Amino acid sequence: MKEYIVAGNWKMFKGVRESVDFTLNLSKKVLNLRSVKLILCPPFTSLFSISEILRKTSIGLGAQNMHFAKSGAFTGEISGEMLLSAGCEYVILGHSERRHVFHETFETIKSKIDAALAQGLKPIICVGEKIEERQAGQTENVIRAQYESACAGLSAEDLKKCIIAYEPVWAIGTGLTATPQQASEMHQLIRHLFAVQFSVAAAEETTILYGGSVKPENARELIETEGIDGFLVGGASLEEEKFVKIADAVDQFILTQEK
Ligand code: PEP
Repeated sequence: MKEYIVAGNWKMFKGVRESVDFTLNLSKKVLNLRSVKLILCPPFTSLFSISEILRKTSIGLGAQNMHFAKSGAFTGEISGEMLLSAGCEYVILGHSERRHVFHETFETIKSKIDAALAQGLKPIICVGEKIEERQAGQTENVIRAQYESACAGLSAEDLKKCIIAYEPVWAIGTGLTATPQQASEMHQLIRHLFAVQFSVAAAEETTILYGGSVKPENARELIETEGIDGFLVGGASLEEEKFVKIADAVDQFILTQEK
């Protein structure tokens, strides 16, 4: 069964104390959510402390990045095995800030995805076009190229562990959101690519998140959009009330689908 997910990407916000307080409060507030899976992706420094809290809950823990090597002389880097030992199950890879601010190449991202899977982490693989690429009519080509590079050579078993996030770069942290139609077109494209590479059934089972200025005000409309299976949330995940409202909108939507 496909899982509906709301993941919070805290980026470089919240120290350890604030992360712990936030997580303790959040874990009490989401006890009534029955169907949506929540994942928190705090900075590295908070991972272990938060994992101790989340162990007693169904909330998942993810990191925001990792190195592709298992260990070695890579000053300042963190390996997948280190993330596992800190309690992580997920890792965000290919986020637009890693691609465009830190200039991670397709090859680097692919190496990280393969390493994450080999080491037992579930990658949340981000793809998305820049505004100039959309304006030039290149959106589909960009998403296709990012998908093909990220997913080349994956087995059907690997795919079960992958989550994809379609995040138009121009919508991240800008307050601009893709229209339901824009999001739906890309989600359908990604699902089609999965169907061609694997099977229609495998494509149907894969969770494809939308990310880009998701907030309580637009969560319901977006989750009702064909092909969207949840959200990767940046800014709004830093505020407990907003994050809970977004999670609640997804949970309510799933419940109406089940009826
Ligand atoms: C993100 O960082 O992945 C993101 C979607 O950010 P925001 O929700 O702030 O646009």
